[in-house]
Amino acid sequence: SSPRSSVIIIGAGVSGLSAAKVLAENGIGDLLILEASDRIGGRIRKEKFGDVSVELGAGWIAGVGGKESNPVWEIAAKLGIRTCFSDYSNARYNIYDRSGKIFPTGIAADSYNKAVDSAIQKLKGLGFGSNNVEDATNRTDCSLTPKTPIELAIDFILHDFEMAEVEPISTYVDFGEREFLVADERGYEYLLYKMAEEFLVTSEGKILDNRLKLNKVVRELQHSRNGVTVKTEDGCVYEADYVILSASIGVLQSDLIAFRPPLPRWKTEAIEKCEVMVYTKIFLKFPNKFWPCGPGKEFFIYAHERRGYYTFWQHMENAYPGSNILVVTLTNDESKRVESQSDEETMKEAMVVLRDMYGPEIPDATDILVPRWWNNRFQRCSYSNYPMISNNQVINDIKAPVGRIFFTGEHTSERFNGYVHGGHLAGIETGKTVLEERRKDERQNDKQNQNF
Ligand code: FAD
Repeated sequence: SSPRSSVIIIGAGVSGLSAAKVLAENGIGDLLILEASDRIGGRIRKEKFGDVSVELGAGWIAGVGGKESNPVWEIAAKLGIRTCFSDYSNARYNIYDRSGKIFPTGIAADSYNKAVDSAIQKLKGLGFGSNNVEDATNRTDCSLTPKTPIELAIDFILHDFEMAEVEPISTYVDFGEREFLVADERGYEYLLYKMAEEFLVTSEGKILDNRLKLNKVVRELQHSRNGVTVKTEDGCVYEADYVILSASIGVLQSDLIAFRPPLPRWKTEAIEKCEVMVYTKIFLKFPNKFWPCGPGKEFFIYAHERRGYYTFWQHMENAYPGSNILVVTLTNDESKRVESQSDEETMKEAMVVLRDMYGPEIPDATDILVPRWWNNRFQRCSYSNYPMISNNQVINDIKAPVGRIFFTGEHTSERFNGYVHGGHLAGIETGKTVLEERRKDERQNDKQNQNF
């Protein structure tokens, strides 16, 4: 058994590192970070693909240009991270049908507006303002249900990506509506290395500090009034006064970590209520480009009778000119389906779709990259999605500490769940909460000692 730490932080993603930094900067030197994988970063992760770095996880800094400044944007700007403005708004004018024809602007705009209207109607039907959700759902008009390929495609974009036009999203309200794609060889994760550098011992881009332990899969948290005992898969045991747990909502829903005593019902019920989103960016490399590239062409949509079937595409020519890379995004069931088949199979499917759009003579892809966030037992999701009918109680319960275990991560961010800045701000907040708790405990101990 190792010496007891003040605080053990489980997970070295953006939230865990942000929490650890707050602690370190406030005099908690004896902290310990246990990370299951062999790297820091978690859902921020780059990989070499062809000659460039692509982001398998978070890709955008979302929420820029508004009245308040996005803290992640500030850090990125200070570090000179290379980014590219993304203009999704044009995507609706690049909707292809299965015969490769682009829907005329008028039809596309009409379908889009209709879809937005019906999404707003549905939201109202779900009882915002009224309490009777079930009744309202039954009343939902079935003419609002998307049926044609173009309706399905737009419905997918609106619901599985963002609902900003339907419902205000705090990220865009607070920080602005612009989004920037990180296109930097050092990766989005460079932000995290720089953050770690400020409180951990590093040398030449490597973290050497032995308070960060990689390949430590936490399997058990034994907690009492006096402290927490943490057991890892390799048989190590660590003791601490407090634990900050930053594992994703998907991991919390799985049985990776056992709690002794078990978590209370209110906690496990809240954890179950949160939806996990799987979001998969599939990268395809080609010998040459065959897709249109000028202004307004970066994003394009494929309308198929199956909802979410290789619907949303992006070319990487703005981010990395000459890279000849396309990205297609799948979500949820389609993500899980693709994760469970071979990459060769997926490449074949994607080629059929591309040939529908661009004709039979286009070249085969030469390489494919399929991230597997769902089947990664340290992730089990891409991000949290609170059901629209839930109130703040669910997120408050997910965030609330249980004894000496404090929960953090993007899924605990009331305003910005699902985003990097959500994870960052949640980590800072949890760090501060633990500092506060520790001061309270110290005061209490002092009092007790005085009584002796
Ligand atoms: P994580 O990064 O998951 O960190 C948790 C860490 O805990 C991980 O490193 C994990 O290995 C570790 N861990 C888990 N279980 C254990 C255990 N038992 N023992 C020890 N360690 C453990 N956000 C944006 O802002 N913009 C985007 O464009 C964007 N796109 C995304 C696209 C994808 C495909 C994905 C997956 C995410 C995207 N996000 C995006 C969301 C963003 O990446 C996350 O919100 C954020 O990175 C989460 O940080 P976190 O610290 O909460 O969790």
